[in-house]
Amino acid sequence: MLLKTLKIMTLSAALLLTLQVHAGVSNFFTLQGGQAVANDPDFTGSISDISNRIDELGLAPVSIDVIIIPEDSNASFDSGNNIQISRSMCFPNHMGTMTSCKYAHDVLNVYAHEYGHAVFDKYISAAIPEYAEVKRIYNQMSALEVKPYKTQMTPQQIAANSQEYKALYESLKNNKEHLRIIGLTMAYHEVFADTIAVFLANSKNAISEALYNPSIPAYNTSLSVMWEGRDFGQKHDIETWQHDNAHLLFSPLRSQIGAEECWPTDRQDQIKKLKHLGAILSEQMKKKYAERKRTEIADNRELMEKYKTICK
Ligand SMILES: [Zn+2]
Repeated sequence: MLLKTLKIMTLSAALLLTLQVHAGVSNFFTLQGGQAVANDPDFTGSISDISNRIDELGLAPVSIDVIIIPEDSNASFDSGNNIQISRSMCFPNHMGTMTSCKYAHDVLNVYAHEYGHAVFDKYISAAIPEYAEVKRIYNQMSALEVKPYKTQMTPQQIAANSQEYKALYESLKNNKEHLRIIGLTMAYHEVFADTIAVFLANSKNAISEALYNPSIPAYNTSLSVMWEGRDFGQKHDIETWQHDNAHLLFSPLRSQIGAEECWPTDRQDQIKKLKHLGAILSEQMKKKYAERKRTEIADNRELMEKYKTICK
């Protein structure tokens, strides 16, 4: 999940594509150039499969719509009810002249990460009651986002829909208390979503590999931390760690989760560890919210100590 920049919908009315396949995923909307096209059963089947496997972990019930687009360099959970994923994930090089595209299993690992966000969203709701109002706004934004696909709309209706979306976005952006919750929870969100994805793939570098853009290190080696920091198999030393963006802040904890003595041995062990992780993240988030504190790199220490208690 990235903090989504404001997106004004310009999609023309599209046909409704509904495929009732799964409790977690209620609808697939496959879009090409903003127009609905037939779903690709191989891809939607794989997505359903991953959603099922995450649901079966028994962490939290999720109900989402999935919007599939042909190509993008990113994917997102919108904190409401939508996940957007591209069938081909491609990154441009620094000149914009060449793109490198990822394998399907990388794209699906990214989907698992986004679905992990949808699961963790429930943990936030449980830990911070004040999140309910933020969530209510996110849900409304989600509904507006998929409305042009679900119903036939005139250009005027689409414009009004966009205005409504923009007003909701502004109401979030201009509310300091809402922003405080969003800011506080982001890094927790990212580490939990990554953990679901790497456990599901049973690969410590599943996300790191999925996001790796081979053309970038050639001109900017400092960017390599963007991938390496999400590798659970690498040592991200708490004594020296300095990266506090939401995707990297809890990388020392990622190293603890990926440590030999902590890496899950089987599916039951994965469930046990994800539940434990969800509980300790929730506990810390709740405390920091009440104390009006920000999320800091030092918060890794407490989480690493607590996580370790259920390792070998
Ligand atoms: Zn994310």
